[in-house]
Amino acid sequence: MLQEYKILRQHGIQFVPDLKGAILTELFRGRPEISADITKEEIKLVSELCPAKAFETEPFGLNMGKCIFCKECHFACPSKIKFTNDYKIATNDPEQLVVKPGATAPVIFNESLVRKEIRKLFKNSLKLRQVSAAGDNCNEMELNASGNVNFDMGRYGIEFVASPRHADGVVITGPISKNMAKALEITYKAIPAPRIVVLVGSDAISGGLFINGGVLNREFLIKYPVDLYVPGNPAHPLTFINGIFQLIGK
Ligand code: SF4
Repeated sequence: MLQEYKILRQHGIQFVPDLKGAILTELFRGRPEISADITKEEIKLVSELCPAKAFETEPFGLNMGKCIFCKECHFACPSKIKFTNDYKIATNDPEQLVVKPGATAPVIFNESLVRKEIRKLFKNSLKLRQVSAAGDNCNEMELNASGNVNFDMGRYGIEFVASPRHADGVVITGPISKNMAKALEITYKAIPAPRIVVLVGSDAISGGLFINGGVLNREFLIKYPVDLYVPGNPAHPLTFINGIFQLIGK
């Protein structure tokens, strides 16, 4: 008995007690910040080197929905572009995903865009079905981690379930290939209304590196409303969990 107690003491707290207030290492690649005095030459440099074509033009900005967080733009212009450890970058407003020069404020969640029935029905219990629509398993692993002993989102009633019939919404990862388009739609329709749609990772949000590959069918996103965008490549469990908290008003 004493031995088991010693082991427990050595292990310490195994879970993240405060999922909203946790602080990640400075090395984490979270919300980017672009210096207000970035020059035209530097904009040209980073726009050309970015493998994900994540920089928007007119006006210039970094689209987190496209960014794969490789940090190459930071390495090229370390004094002008940096990545903070702010992991609260999920939002329901796609415009919030674009970081403009000089912007240092946290990503805003637009309360006016939340469907009323979501808060009413899912605040205390939200079951989700995950569909990997040609995902590379990185976001899927982090979503899995969201329910493990560290993050334990199940303590707030948020869980993944095996059947869409038991789910309140679908969480999509991957760029949505032609081969997965129909399966995704069948899954979505099998979920009882009202259903929520969450996109996790740059591939799901924008098609990522695969957008021009000719193998995608993203019509699903034109047909059905998206309730939450969770950027990252992969998205961190705390980004996903905090985004869901905001969506359901937790
Ligand atoms: S970190 Fe994002 S914006 Fe910067 S080069 Fe990589 S993909 Fe492009």
